[in-house]
Amino acid sequence: MLPMSSSVRRFLLTKAKTYVRTVTTSKPATSFDDDQIKQNYDIIIAGGGMVGCTLACAIGKNSLLSHLKVLLLEGSPQQKYELKPEYSNRVVALNQNTKSLMNSLEIWQHIEKARVQPVRHMQVWDASSNALISFNSADIMDDDVAYIVENDLLLHAVNKELTSPDLKNVNIVYGAKISGYELSKHEALTRNLIKMNNGDTYSCKLLIGADGANSAVRNAMGVQYLSWNYDHMGVVATLHLAEETENTTAWQRWLPTGPVALLPLDSKRSSLVWSTTVDHAKQLLQLPEEQFVDALNDALWKQYPHSSAVEACTSWFGSCLKSIGLPDGAERQLPPSVKSIVSASRAAFPLGFGHSTRYVAPGVALVGDAAHRVHPLAGQGVNLGFGDVKDLTEFLADAIYTGLDITHHSWLERYESSRQRHNVPTQIAVDALYRLYTVDLPPVVLVRSLGTQLTNALQPIKKLIMSHATT
Ligand SMILES: Cc1cc2nc3c(=O)[nH]c(=O)nc-3n(C[C@H](O)[C@H](O)[C@H](O)COP(=O)(O)OP(=O)(O)OC[C@H]3O[C@@H](n4cnc5c(N)ncnc54)[C@H](O)[C@@H]3O)c2cc1C
Repeated sequence: MLPMSSSVRRFLLTKAKTYVRTVTTSKPATSFDDDQIKQNYDIIIAGGGMVGCTLACAIGKNSLLSHLKVLLLEGSPQQKYELKPEYSNRVVALNQNTKSLMNSLEIWQHIEKARVQPVRHMQVWDASSNALISFNSADIMDDDVAYIVENDLLLHAVNKELTSPDLKNVNIVYGAKISGYELSKHEALTRNLIKMNNGDTYSCKLLIGADGANSAVRNAMGVQYLSWNYDHMGVVATLHLAEETENTTAWQRWLPTGPVALLPLDSKRSSLVWSTTVDHAKQLLQLPEEQFVDALNDALWKQYPHSSAVEACTSWFGSCLKSIGLPDGAERQLPPSVKSIVSASRAAFPLGFGHSTRYVAPGVALVGDAAHRVHPLAGQGVNLGFGDVKDLTEFLADAIYTGLDITHHSWLERYESSRQRHNVPTQIAVDALYRLYTVDLPPVVLVRSLGTQLTNALQPIKKLIMSHATT
């Protein structure tokens, strides 16, 4: 052994004491005794909606993470799924990235076996002018623009994989009533406690909040949450169309009160998402079904007053585009007429914006609507959540691969910055679109109409929009 000077010895001793102090004080102070803890897990996911269940499945199937003990806590009782002849009124438009994720987790096969409708065209048009934008999958991408899937079918397909005998490391508790969280504030040794109403307590190294827009995990983290309500509701219903068609087009018309959208389900049926003021939404829910159908056909077809100045400018701009060989937007498909709605399929949901300034804290991460909430006008909400699932799973696996713990702050922070780089611009763009299109002043209508015409004429911009929306 080499001789050590007393100053070096003193220095090392001080360092060692500091280290010991750091380790001992990093043990979380807790109001629960260890013998009260029902079970220790590596990861607990609070919330078994579409995002939480998919995350549990992704972690369970990842070869670098499959040794971890995972618990999924879902507040609702387990739902028994049955494929009914009539479609559910809750559907989502899934993008190509989500389809790839679902394929990689062997979930997509169950959806395809049941039912899914591809979207190959999209037409978005303004009721206050003649401006229109259309997307054709054959022109701008090699594959379909999106896929319409019922929420309950998607959840069923995820659960089929999640409960398969091959997936041994994930436990699920349905009807879980969580009464509180005690989060570790220490980075070096995280242990979070989850207290249940029935007196049980679970502990875990990493707690993941997938508990939706009113996330209790986010509240327990004490992070800043920027949010507002749009004072709009999304009225949904399942529609029977007047005529049978191939029905692979998603239609969206911007009305002064908000967008009305039809998403294709099959050759004769579409799903409605009609975003409108709270009072109007309530009225729509009260109307007899035939009158509701009339109101909807009006929303899709009625001529709204156009400003003559806006009309003159947009037709001049259209002819300029045409003169240089670009599409002027005059060519348009006619939307379908609605014949009837599926009885009792109407419902309305409040719409809002939410952004958690932090997605991570020591030993905690947020995914899905718990971290971000957007207006459904661009069909992005759950797709952003599935992007979180993909990235978080990869970063946790990277942490293990590099010999670090799943709670290591550098990997959790990489997850946060990677997702916020994608999610925040998307949220801002969706919010800006909402604000731009719910104003009916002629100068604003003019600016957005010219912007729409220009975007529609320039294929590279359309490709750029699509590529952001699908990643
Ligand atoms: C009208 C409408 C149309 C939409 N259309 C689209 C679309 O076309 N495309 C798209 O991408 N997105 C769409 N969205 C958004 C999409 O529905 C949401 O982004 C998605 O549901 C979020 O999923 P999530 O799993 O993060 O949260 P949630 O669906 O809110 O799930 C949270 C889960 O956590 C559980 N939970 C909550 N608290 C607790 C607790 N304390 N303990 C245990 N469990 C708890 C809940 O029971 C629930 O199961 C739409 C939304 C609306 C309102």
